[in-house]
Amino acid sequence: MYDWDVVIAGAGPAGLAAGMVFADSGLRTLVCEKKRLPLDKACGEGVMPPGAAVLQRLGIYELLPPGGFAPFQGIRFYSPAGRCASGVFREGPGLGIDRRILSKALAQRARSTAGLTMWEEAPVEGFDRESGSLRVQVKGETLSTRLLVGADGLHSRLRRLSGVHMACRRHNRWGIRQHFHVRPWSDFVEVYWAQGAEAYITPCGAEMVNVAFLWDADRQDGRAAGRSLFDSLMDKFPELRSRLDGAEPAGPPAAAGPLEQRAKSPIGDGVLLIGDAAGYLDARTGEGISIALAQALALQDTVVPLLCRQDGMLTAAELAGYLQVHRKIVRPYYLITGKVLALSRHPRMVEGAISLLSRFPGLFQRLLSMNMGPGW
Ligand SMILES: Cc1cc2nc3c(=O)[nH]c(=O)nc-3n(C[C@H](O)[C@H](O)[C@H](O)COP(=O)(O)OP(=O)(O)OC[C@H]3O[C@@H](n4cnc5c(N)ncnc54)[C@H](O)[C@@H]3O)c2cc1C
Repeated sequence: MYDWDVVIAGAGPAGLAAGMVFADSGLRTLVCEKKRLPLDKACGEGVMPPGAAVLQRLGIYELLPPGGFAPFQGIRFYSPAGRCASGVFREGPGLGIDRRILSKALAQRARSTAGLTMWEEAPVEGFDRESGSLRVQVKGETLSTRLLVGADGLHSRLRRLSGVHMACRRHNRWGIRQHFHVRPWSDFVEVYWAQGAEAYITPCGAEMVNVAFLWDADRQDGRAAGRSLFDSLMDKFPELRSRLDGAEPAGPPAAAGPLEQRAKSPIGDGVLLIGDAAGYLDARTGEGISIALAQALALQDTVVPLLCRQDGMLTAAELAGYLQVHRKIVRPYYLITGKVLALSRHPRMVEGAISLLSRFPGLFQRLLSMNMGPGW
């Protein structure tokens, strides 16, 4: 009666992991990606331990090339005055990985999943609801499905089309990243703080580091773009510049923003949003991929049983069980990231906080765990 049980827009970590969950449960699943795989995107590329554990569970580690990723033990902060604090993860290592390598491995795993079909260069253009069914427009074709999952990223078209997009301008933060061919000098993700910007150095291969800057666009000259923007941000971090002296850039910089995007709700009649499409605050605490993967896995117990038990399109009321789990997953992220954003507006408080964390590494460790949420 329906072309598909589930159609998913977007083949990022959220979309592909969700596709595997549905298809592994015997549901006829189509993932539509508007670009060609493997996908690249602006990202700090530090997957926190919970996300790394999900990737292990999905069998992704076995598909990674030797030297194409780097585990990291924790987070190290450097204050503008040079104070340093290190927090070691209690949960085991995180995973530093180039997004193209992660995308390739996720796609390989997805292609070998029975019941999962992937269409590339196939943007989801729109959808409408008609007498208990959902019709989705993909690349000029109309498909019928029982559930449409919007995993279409930060600037989600489906969030807007389903009427849950919320305008927000509390934070005007952006991010840019660049890879460098250089042997990582640390097995921590290093975070350097400066006025209105931070630098994140993630080891992501035997001979590769990712340098990402996040900045407050209200406090940074917005005229620069691409390489000149990257260079102007690097000027804020002379210590980092000297570290990278002579290192070859690997590919062009990539930027994204504004980072803060909100949805009134991740569910609607026949529609469910996951990953960045469901809302995002900031990349400051490096939780995006872990949250996207956690949301995808949560579909197993909350949405799969509904699709297996009954016919027809799932209503928002029926998806309420997922909503509860979604809130539980994102609550610590919004709480801690919000507090860190507020703190970083006050340079003296940043110095004080990093000084405190350097004296109490156990406290730093507990804060890292809190940020990852309960149940990990
Ligand atoms: C500068 C920066 C640094 C970051 N650093 C980190 C970090 O260190 N660690 C971390 O965990 N997270 C980090 N994040 C966040 C992380 O990148 C995201 O949270 C994560 O990629 C979300 O995955 P997703 O699958 O929801 O979206 P995406 O990875 O963005 O995938 C969405 C996909 O949907 C596709 N798409 C869009 N529209 C359509 C359409 N209409 N039809 C079909 N396909 C469509 C896109 O092409 C894309 O491939 C960072 C983000 C930024 C911007």
